[in-house]
Amino acid sequence: MKTGFIGLGHMGAAMAANLVKAGHDVTVFNRSPGKAVALLELGAHEAPSIADACNGEAVITMLANDSALANVTLADDGLVESLRKGAIHVSMSTISVALSKELAQTHAEAGQRFIAAPVFGRPDMAAAAKLYVVAAGDSAAVDECQPLFDALGQKTFPISTEPAAANLIKLSANFLQAAAIEALAEAVALVGKAGIDRRAFVDLLTSTLFTGRAYKVFGALIAEGTYQPAAFAAPLGHKDIRLALEAAESLRVPMPLGSLLHDRFLRLLAQGGDTLDWTAIAGLAAQDAGDVQKPQSPP
Ligand code: NAP
Repeated sequence: MKTGFIGLGHMGAAMAANLVKAGHDVTVFNRSPGKAVALLELGAHEAPSIADACNGEAVITMLANDSALANVTLADDGLVESLRKGAIHVSMSTISVALSKELAQTHAEAGQRFIAAPVFGRPDMAAAAKLYVVAAGDSAAVDECQPLFDALGQKTFPISTEPAAANLIKLSANFLQAAAIEALAEAVALVGKAGIDRRAFVDLLTSTLFTGRAYKVFGALIAEGTYQPAAFAAPLGHKDIRLALEAAESLRVPMPLGSLLHDRFLRLLAQGGDTLDWTAIAGLAAQDAGDVQKPQSPP
């Protein structure tokens, strides 16, 4: 497919590379210059502006947060002004339910199509084309984008004809992941403070009762107290819990654990944790315990 790709961060750069490797005709754009060098070597084209990335059948966005996506989509010479009628905006960022609804309506009014396709998986899975894609929106548009999803991930879950459903699922899943980090962190702090080997404890857990990928990936980081470099930065984790709580508020769904996690992330950021992986909230549990294992970096 001829597609644009906007946002070459930790996830986007790896995803765009896989699209090129799969033979798609990809034109990339990133706000800060210099991020496209490796992609150009692979055969991507670089767009000098957002509008120049909008000449294909689709444009994928993989941006940090709501304000970045709103900016790229709604600003002068943004996606809504630049995409031709019938073209598809594939929004793969983790964004709010409210913005997803707004963009679906705005694109529809402009005669364009909008689908939400947030992903499960960290940058290593993006690089290996092993993401899980949760796709929602007009089913014909989702079908048309399947060749793109096939290049990016190992499985696509077409979940609803309403784009915002995919965003709510992604936020709910990230709430669950953060809850797993917090629960693991508290258990590891307890065992660690008693002088028991943390790594052995995590190995035992992840080979018996808690065998899922999340426990394995986060458990290893928590056992070592290693939170840098960030694969998924703490401000993004904070954003996702905030957006999950916003959605919960509008649906009147109490999420007491979500509120606790929100406070955890706020404390992490207040203590200078912006460059750490979101798993670093585990360092707070260790700190609370006066745990003898000192995390590698703040907190
Ligand atoms: P990242 O490395 O921080 O990259 C963010 C991208 O957004 C960069 O290209 C950045 O451009 C761009 N951006 C930020 N603010 C912008 C603005 N105002 N206008 C235009 N562009 C802007 O983030 P990431 O880890 O790739 O994550 C991207 C999205 O995927 C997020 O929504 C995140 O929640 C989600 N996600 C991440 C992971 C993960 O493990 N990392 C997994 C699943 C989903 P610059 O280069 O100019 O800063």
